[in-house]
Amino acid sequence: MAPTRFDSTRVVRKVRGRAASDGAGVKLTRVIGGQELPDLDPFLLLDEFGTDRPEDYLAGFPDHPHRGFETVTYMLDGRMRHRDNHGNEGLLVPGGVQWMTAGRGLVHSEMPEQEAGRMRGFQLWVNLPGRDKMSEPRYQEFAPERIPVAHPVDGVEVRVVAGELADRDGRQVHGPIDQPATSPLYLDATLDAGMAWEHRLPEGHNAFAYVFEGEAMLGTGDEARAVASQELAILGGGDLLRIEAGAAGARVLLVAGRPLREPVARHGPFVMNTRQELMQAFVDFQEGRF
Ligand code: MN
Repeated sequence: MAPTRFDSTRVVRKVRGRAASDGAGVKLTRVIGGQELPDLDPFLLLDEFGTDRPEDYLAGFPDHPHRGFETVTYMLDGRMRHRDNHGNEGLLVPGGVQWMTAGRGLVHSEMPEQEAGRMRGFQLWVNLPGRDKMSEPRYQEFAPERIPVAHPVDGVEVRVVAGELADRDGRQVHGPIDQPATSPLYLDATLDAGMAWEHRLPEGHNAFAYVFEGEAMLGTGDEARAVASQELAILGGGDLLRIEAGAAGARVLLVAGRPLREPVARHGPFVMNTRQELMQAFVDFQEGRF
């Protein structure tokens, strides 16, 4: 067996999501933001939703507020219509992403635009530094064809939502998302059976890998650990991550962000630095200032 490389990334801990319900009764799996893993700075929540049963998603997420952070919705199957109280509206389709900076606040709805079929995707919450929490709301929304695809090695295809990686020909592929506060990496990697890929994570970022199809070995040598479908691996150690797909291949969400290291005061859809700011968010929302 090859010796462990001194700068290799290893799995620090594995976390399994828990069944949860949110919005008007949408069934989902909460992977970050529950008791087992309340947060992973700067990430506050990761929900996976995936069901063929319309009764699990039809009620959707009617009007609700957000303040102080970003919500990132990445669709795999199904269509979701969003509308906010500032007149913004859009339709998320399979393979598309909406990176919403709630900033000082908005009220929006996220409702399925289908009455049958499969609804599947992820929502990630990314914190904002105190200086940006009261910024103007902003949307970065990209249709599937605007998300670049890289093939770093044979048998590996990576959709680059945020961050960058080197393609096989040495060309750097950049995701369309711009967020200097946390410089996020957000990759959707599909590995064919038995194929391996090494990726250098941004230095100093917190990172996780969430396997959502098949299974994969993460890390090198004696430290490699098997990660099953629906398991999240918190990554640590060095920056060079090796992923090797199992016999059925693997599909992995690989996410990293620069930690903010600021106090977090959160309740429901409001995430601020102090309790006083949190109370102010409730007052502002109730008085219609979102
Ligand atoms: Mn929302």
